[in-house]
Amino acid sequence: MKNITLLGATGSIGKSTLSVVDLHPDKFNIFALSANTNWQQMFELCNKYQPNYAVMVDEQSAEKLSNAMTADTQVLSGAQALDEIAAHQHTDFIMAAIVGTAGMSSALCAAKAGKRIMLANKESLVLAGDIFMQAVAEFNAELIPVDSEHSAIFQCLQSGKSGLNKIQLTASGGPFLHTPIGKFKSITPDEACAHPNWSMGRKISVDSATMMNKGLEVIEAHYLFSLAPKQIDVVVHPQSIVHSSVLYEDGSTLSQLGNPDMRTVISYAMSYPQRINSGVAALDLINTPALEFYQPDFEKFTCLKLAFEALNKGGNAMITMNAANEIAVEHFLNHQIGFLDISKIIEQTLSTMKHATPDSLESVISNDLVARKIARKISKQYV
Ligand code: NAD
Ligand code: MG
Repeated sequence: MKNITLLGATGSIGKSTLSVVDLHPDKFNIFALSANTNWQQMFELCNKYQPNYAVMVDEQSAEKLSNAMTADTQVLSGAQALDEIAAHQHTDFIMAAIVGTAGMSSALCAAKAGKRIMLANKESLVLAGDIFMQAVAEFNAELIPVDSEHSAIFQCLQSGKSGLNKIQLTASGGPFLHTPIGKFKSITPDEACAHPNWSMGRKISVDSATMMNKGLEVIEAHYLFSLAPKQIDVVVHPQSIVHSSVLYEDGSTLSQLGNPDMRTVISYAMSYPQRINSGVAALDLINTPALEFYQPDFEKFTCLKLAFEALNKGGNAMITMNAANEIAVEHFLNHQIGFLDISKIIEQTLSTMKHATPDSLESVISNDLVARKIARKISKQYV
């Protein structure tokens, strides 16, 4: 029996994780759950899973949950409590499924405690890739990607990296792949969040629509598989059936295929190196529509270009880009700025921020805060 600490239990990845747990009550126990503010949903989850701990980051929500609690669950509050449950001696696996920078510290704490980290929070690697990977190696943690593309690469690389030439990350292209750029200006948050293949939280859905998500994933792959930027290609594949590919020197390409459903990825991270039922139907190739592949359009999807530039630049560029993106997406989701303003705000923040090379978690965090401040100021021009 493995004790799972599920960070971001009320989100899209959180729900899919719980549905895999439901299929295997003999293998997995929910030890701790976390959420930000949704205490009503957490209340229901606590009744169902009876975890030892429930963390609500927001203090008022924690108080409401605590007053309502009937299960034998200890309610904790504040971001510090996330670090505690992630590193708790009884935690075996953590699912790092908090969205954004808020998920970095707890994922890093789990790494330092030598846990199995099922990493959905790609922002941890974008912000502090070197620090994170060092901690994983130093403390013998296990890092299993929970991102469909990176899980595909991880699965394809099971026999090692010998003869590896390149990887190819597939991108669906999002809802606006075929939308003329002239129409981008009037895109609404709901249109941006209506992803054709994947059902996800709103922030990552907007990132998919701008293709910043693929940019973040290029950086994620760079750290996870220790690859040079030129070894990482992006190919647009609107059907999201081929989840990514590995290209070898001998001309072989290995790809992982499946229906677009995160439960496959999550169950693999939970059962690795074995495989278990995830509840996802097998791929029916005969009845699958024709698979298409295209070059990404870097002019239309400027965010993808910015991410490659930030990776090549190194230092604080990725932190700054990620911070500006989070601020811009938040403003967009709140109907304060237009869709095209997202990349403009990121670009301007990157050119305003001084170049630096953060080498500690503290300097990563302070860089993130400064970049957010600049991005907020720049955003005002677009509101
Ligand atoms: P979501 O918005 O559906 O859920 C986010 C979760 O994080 C919620 O439980 C919420 O309570 C919690 N949260 C939000 N702000 C917080 C804060 N400040 N402090 C603590 N907790 C906070 O997001 P999601 O789609 O489940 O994505 C989660 C992560 O997984 C993201 O990093 C995303 O990039 C990654 N990811 C998601 C998918 C997917 O299919 N949804 C696929 C690959 C990677
Ligand atoms: Mg992905």
